[in-house]
Amino acid sequence: MKNAEISARKNDAISRGVGMTTQIYADKAENSEIWDVEGRRYIDFAGGIAVLNTGHRHPKVVEAVKAQLDRFTHTCHQVVPYENYVALAERLNKMVPGNFEKKTIFATTGAEAVENAIKIARCATGRSAVIAFTGGFHGRTFLGMALTGKVVPYKVGFGPMMGDVFHVPFPLEMHGIDVDTSLDVLDKLFKADVDPKRVAAIIVEPVQGEGGFYDVPRPLMKALREICDEHGILLVADEVQTGFARTGKMFAMQHYDVAPDLTTMAKSLAGGFPLSAVTGRAELMDAPGPGGLGGTYAGNPLAIAAAHAVLDVIEEEQLCDRANQLGNRLKQRLEALRTDIPQIMDIRGLGFMNAVEFKVPGTDKPNADFTNAVRLKALDKGLILLTCGVYSNVIRFLAPITIQDEVFNEALDLIEASIREVAA
Ligand code: PMP
Repeated sequence: MKNAEISARKNDAISRGVGMTTQIYADKAENSEIWDVEGRRYIDFAGGIAVLNTGHRHPKVVEAVKAQLDRFTHTCHQVVPYENYVALAERLNKMVPGNFEKKTIFATTGAEAVENAIKIARCATGRSAVIAFTGGFHGRTFLGMALTGKVVPYKVGFGPMMGDVFHVPFPLEMHGIDVDTSLDVLDKLFKADVDPKRVAAIIVEPVQGEGGFYDVPRPLMKALREICDEHGILLVADEVQTGFARTGKMFAMQHYDVAPDLTTMAKSLAGGFPLSAVTGRAELMDAPGPGGLGGTYAGNPLAIAAAHAVLDVIEEEQLCDRANQLGNRLKQRLEALRTDIPQIMDIRGLGFMNAVEFKVPGTDKPNADFTNAVRLKALDKGLILLTCGVYSNVIRFLAPITIQDEVFNEALDLIEASIREVAA
C-alpha cells in the first residue's frame, strides 16, 4: 500500500473538515517512532497531539490493556460499575492540585471534560457566564468552540456561538499585551458587559497549547484566583494538554501558588486510549443531580486500565525529572542557533513543553511561512513536528518523555538541520 493511494481514497471518503498535517499513513509505532505503510520510519515529536507522554505502546500500558481486554471491555459504568474506575478517581483526587476534598468524573475527550467542567460550574454556582482567553483552545464541541479564542478555522461557518461566553486577551508581552492589559480588559468587561456575580467560571490553560505554548504569567494566575474569590467565580484549569509530567510537574498548575477549583484532563492521561476527567472540589462536583453527568463510553474500562499504567510509569520512570532534562537539552540546542538564525524570536517552555517562535528577520512580525517550511523540511527528513500559535509561527515539541537518548539526539540534529536549511 502506498501513502498516495490511501490519500486519494481519503479525499473521496472523508470530509475535508478533518484537516491533516501529514499524508503518511501509520503502520506501526513504538515509543517515539512511527513506521508508515511504505516502511519509512519517522521520529514522532507530535505524540498524537500531546497524548503520548509515555510513548507509543508503553509495555506496561499494553500489558494493562491486554489484561483488561481478557476480562471485559464495556459494561457502562452507569449500569454495571467496575472497581478500577473508582480507584483511578481516588488516585486523581489525591494528585490533582488543591488542598481540599475532591471528587472526579470521567468522560472520553478533552472537549467533553471542558463541557462537563462548565456544566458543573453552572450547576454549583447557579450562574451562567464563562470567561476564557483569546488564543485559548478548549475543543470542537459547541461549548468548546465557543470558549476557544480563535475564529479561523474553529468557528467559521458554524453559526451563533453559545451565549454568555466572553474573551479576555491572553498576555503576550512579545506581541504587545501585558498582564495589566489583560486584567484591565477583564475589569472593563465586568463594567460594560457582564456582572461578575453572573459569572460561573473563568477557564484558563496554565500553558496555552494550540495557542502557542505560552504559560500564564504568575501574577496573572494569582490575580485570577483573587478575582474569582472576590466574586464567587470558579477557576477552571484546562490541563488537557499540559498534564501528566509534560511541564516537568505532574500538572502545570503546580508551577503556581494557587489551586483551581476544577481541573480538566485528557490526552496523556491514558497514553493513547480515549479518556478524560474532571477533578475538583467535592461539594462542586456533587452539585449536578444523579444522571446529569456521564456518558455511554465515559470511563471505558480499557482506557481506565491504561491510565493506571500511565500513572505508574510516570512515577516509576520519574518522567517529571526526565521532562526537565530533555527540555533543557532541547532549549540549549535551539539557543545555540540564535546567532545564526535571525528568524528565531523566542525559545521557551516549562519542562518538556517547549516551543520555538519565528519572526521575519529585522522585524517583530510573526513568520508563519518559515515555520511551516521548517515543519515540512523536518518531515522530509523523517521527523514529525507540529506548529501552533495564533499566528501559526510556533513549532511545538511534544515528543514522548520516554524517548530513548539516541533517538532524541538524532531528532535534535534533524531539528537543527531543518532550521538551518530553511534559513539558508
Ligand atoms: N483543551 C485543551 C487545552 C486542548 O489542548 C484540547 C485538544 N487540543 C482540548 C481541550 C480538546 O480535546 P479533544 O480534542 O480531546 O476534545
